Amino acid sequence: MEKISRTKIADLMKREDFGATVNVKGWVRTRRGSKQVNFIALNDGSTINNVQIVVDLGSFDEEMLKLITTGACLSVNGVMVESVGSGQKVEVQAREIEILGACDNTYPLQKKGHSMEFLREIAHLRPRTNTFGAVFRIRHNMAMAIHQFFHERGFFYFHTPIITASDCEGAGQMFQVTTKNLYDLKKDETGAIIYDDDFFGKQASLTVSGQLEGELAATALGSIYTFGPTFRAENSNTPRHLAEFWMVEPEVAFNDIQDNMDLAEEFIKFCVQWAIDHCADDVKFLNDMFDKGLIERLQSVLKEDFVRLPYTEGVKILEAAVAGGHKFEFPIYWGADLASEHERYLVEEHFKRPVILTDYPKEIKSFYMKQNEDGKTVRAMDVLFPKIGEIIGGSEREADYDKLMTRIHEMNIPMKDMWWYLDTRKYGTCPHSGFGLGFERLLLFVTGMTNIRDVIPFPRTPRNAEF
Ligand code: ATP
Ligand code: MN
Repeated sequence: MEKISRTKIADLMKREDFGATVNVKGWVRTRRGSKQVNFIALNDGSTINNVQIVVDLGSFDEEMLKLITTGACLSVNGVMVESVGSGQKVEVQAREIEILGACDNTYPLQKKGHSMEFLREIAHLRPRTNTFGAVFRIRHNMAMAIHQFFHERGFFYFHTPIITASDCEGAGQMFQVTTKNLYDLKKDETGAIIYDDDFFGKQASLTVSGQLEGELAATALGSIYTFGPTFRAENSNTPRHLAEFWMVEPEVAFNDIQDNMDLAEEFIKFCVQWAIDHCADDVKFLNDMFDKGLIERLQSVLKEDFVRLPYTEGVKILEAAVAGGHKFEFPIYWGADLASEHERYLVEEHFKRPVILTDYPKEIKSFYMKQNEDGKTVRAMDVLFPKIGEIIGGSEREADYDKLMTRIHEMNIPMKDMWWYLDTRKYGTCPHSGFGLGFERLLLFVTGMTNIRDVIPFPRTPRNAEF
């Protein structure tokens, strides 16, 4: 076959030099036609759109033609012509076809309309479907949006460690990292495991958040963000929790909680606008196939200011809803951690737009959050979104060394390996704020997918680490 340099289908669709000879490579989605002419829908992953390959059967070898089946990989040389019937502007009249990889009828993606559950079982192949192609292209584009947003505002991308020896944040939900022989653990007289001879000489785990190290960077470089994998061994089998997920964590020196809310709102809106601008075909596909309200929801989030409301006021609204006959699964009272049903009630039923809830009871929030004068609440902020509930969690940080230490003692936080964190408050402390956005929660919102397992290529959840 003549060697012609490959044109990606996404690029081919934009060309207008009809009559040019081109090469396309990709996987067969469908094949149909008559005894004389066949139409092959070829997809190479560069776009949701297939290119139609027109094959004049008389001009090709019969044995080769038999191998053009759903899932087969082809290289096609042909002439680019204007298309009338394919739904696209361009199609290719085949001159030469090479079968790069045949595909027999055991291929599981023969016909359309598989359930999402089944596709999760074949997560190694699901990127070849329209739906997952769209989701993973959007995932890439949202990662670019995040870097773009922070880079153009002078934030530095800071890499925090994945292996950590501090357990003050995620006690109870951390995955341990060890090279010890688990069948032969040395213990001291109290029964506690001796870690002296373990790889790091102490107990180590996978990080639940890059925030604490992010604060070290923010109090030096001013404005930073992290964007990396985080791990939580929480045994919550929900459509919004993964054991391994990606988190985006900006941290900014001199920002107070108001600045932090402004940043969060501007950031999410930037990302949603980016999806509309850069992923139009994929978003439209998901809108038409799964979620007819998707595009409208994206646009409505852009139009409106987010509601900003103290937790205490939010609880009053929820209590009034209960008094009015609304049924929640979990009880609601001042001091309760809000469940996703409560968050969604505020967003979807009551305000009908995103809500930033602030000033939570200190008992249900982390030790490092700035304490309010009332002695009861801390300067926390959660951004709550339609269909998702919490998409961002953040706060202004406690900058005062003594107040921070008091809180640490009150909460019995194990701080033996945290001297370095406390040094930020000891040496030139400053007001600062930050938040964490769950990348997959953002993807749930912009794709309209309803299960978080379907916006990450290879989900890790309790009892599931396949592929
Ligand atoms: P939730 O209450 O939903 O369990 P959280 O309060 O434990 O979340 P944070 O510790 O505030 O979460 O983490 C910051 C953000 O990371 C959350 O707002 C959410 O978007 C995301 N996130 C937290 N846990 C998970 C998880 N297990 N899987 C995916 N994303 C998560
Ligand atoms: Mn949170």
